Amino acid sequence: MDFAYSAEEEAFRQELRAWLSVNLPAHRAQYPASDDELTLHPDASFDSSLAWHRRLHAGRWVGADWPREHGGRGAGIVERMILNEELIGAGAPPGVNTIGLAMVGPAVMHHGTPAQQRRWLTPILSGDEIWCQGFSEPGAGSDLAALSTRAVPDGDGFVVSGQKVWTSNAHHSHYCILLVRSDPTAAKHRGLSCLLVDMRSPGITIRPLRQITGDAEFNEVFFDGVRVPGDHLLGRLHGGWEVAITVLMYERMALGSTMILHPFIDRVLELARREAGPGGAKSAAADPILRQRLAEMYLLGRLVRLTGLRYLTRQLRGEPPGAEGSVVKLTFTDAYRQMAERATQIVGPYHQLWRGEARAPEDGRWAFQSLFALRFGIAGGTTEVQKNIVAERLLGLPR
Ligand SMILES: Cc1cc2nc3c(=O)[nH]c(=O)nc-3n(C[C@H](O)[C@H](O)[C@H](O)COP(=O)(O)OP(=O)(O)OC[C@H]3O[C@@H](n4cnc5c(N)ncnc54)[C@H](O)[C@@H]3O)c2cc1C
Repeated sequence: MDFAYSAEEEAFRQELRAWLSVNLPAHRAQYPASDDELTLHPDASFDSSLAWHRRLHAGRWVGADWPREHGGRGAGIVERMILNEELIGAGAPPGVNTIGLAMVGPAVMHHGTPAQQRRWLTPILSGDEIWCQGFSEPGAGSDLAALSTRAVPDGDGFVVSGQKVWTSNAHHSHYCILLVRSDPTAAKHRGLSCLLVDMRSPGITIRPLRQITGDAEFNEVFFDGVRVPGDHLLGRLHGGWEVAITVLMYERMALGSTMILHPFIDRVLELARREAGPGGAKSAAADPILRQRLAEMYLLGRLVRLTGLRYLTRQLRGEPPGAEGSVVKLTFTDAYRQMAERATQIVGPYHQLWRGEARAPEDGRWAFQSLFALRFGIAGGTTEVQKNIVAERLLGLPR
């Protein structure tokens, strides 16, 4: 692993910093609510995030790692990491079309026809078309290939009926990358197809699912006889599993970006220095047990970063992502949970007060974080499934 950046990579970082130093304050002047806390309330910050996306796009930073012929800068994986690092470090608003950029775009580049690439890629970059991912169903999550939403060939297209669940951002999306069963007689991985579905089509009902944090970021989506044109089929008919694997591989790579953790770890350490300890002790950081826990949290954070870099190195060498992705996901999930737990421990019982309560420390930041942390053990492959991957592929244990 080489920790040094090349001259080109450093130049990329400096160009970005200079751009951010002008554009982030200008954005904040227009959207004063877009502080770092809003980054965790996607609905509240959607308009601000979309405006920020458009500004980034005008600066040619959106999809910088996409090939030039598809509207990117042709930058590499390291530049993508630098971009993430700098945006998060500067406290910029969150991405608004993450599924489009990180998953749908690459899938269209790999599996789309030239006509499809011309049709779909540009509006993903500009943010004119926001995407969601319709894979999970009530009866198919970890066992994705068990899905039952049906696509029946009809004329030159398909008619889709069924239900998806956990569909993040469906309520903001123009299109959905939808995995459907097109051949119910084939073995379960072989009878799937991937469709690009207009979310404004007649027959689609989107119902919000309220989460434990009170936000409703994801939805149930019902398809009742929805017509999808034939040229919205991505990849081969009944070849949907190949497309799904590409999408999931890119999803894993996007999840491999663990940068969001580090500013929070710093914040918790700062909290420990600032807050009084138990029994009125001068500083929470003076407590011998808490000190050990904080050191554990810090070390785990460093381990996540180093394993993330190892994962990146494999990609740079052109090797397949490998099971490190699962190690990154597992340690990230644990580190995020520890970060939230340590903060609530330092703040004490008042941490339970929600935003808006007069006595809520930092306006309920830590109450929110301790609940928000739960998602990471489920999204993008559950903790148990990741452990299976590590056991079988890294440790060579029997299936
Ligand atoms: C924040 C968030 C956003 C999401 N966004 C999307 C989205 O936009 N689009 C989308 O399609 N999906 C999305 N998902 C869904 C996510 O991919 C699924 O929740 C996940 O794959 C797990 O599936 P499931 O919920 O059906 O759980 P299940 O697969 O039913 O699992 C239930 C329990 O059984 C365990 N289990 C299952 N199989 C095994 C096994 N083989 N060995 C051991 N234990 C096992 C699991 O670990 C879990 O504890 C999102 C989820 C979250 C939390």
